[in-house]
Amino acid sequence: MSSDCIFCRIVAGEIPATIVYQDDQVTAFKDIQPQATVHILVIPNQHVASLNEADRLDPALLGRVLQAAATVAREAGIAESGYRLVTNTGPDSGQTVHHLHFHVLGGNPLRLPLG
Ligand code: AMP
Ligand code: ZN
Repeated sequence: MSSDCIFCRIVAGEIPATIVYQDDQVTAFKDIQPQATVHILVIPNQHVASLNEADRLDPALLGRVLQAAATVAREAGIAESGYRLVTNTGPDSGQTVHHLHFHVLGGNPLRLPLG
């Protein structure tokens, strides 16, 4: 828990968010500035700054985050219509929040290209 990290504070319930899934390892909540009809962020409860620090996490936790992404997509009704899972890492990606997070985007046709 990093008290100056906005996503750690969401996990701790210190700042409000529309949480759609939470367990002792993973939290998922609606993005405050949605860029698709469905835009959910899925994060490990444990703080790491980005995927660059993935080695610090138990591989099973990373797996749980991906499974939770699939679960929230299914519960949002976009499993069949399709969705995109995105994680921005570092300056060139435009990462703005430095707590590892996966964007689940769907509910409408998504624009390409990715890069
Ligand atoms: P990124 O640019 O990949 O770091 O994405 C950060 C995302 O976090 C953006 O899509 C923001 O809209 C979202 N965000 C920032 N603060 C909050 C918040 N308090 N609750 C929900 N989403 C947030
Ligand atoms: Zn954090």
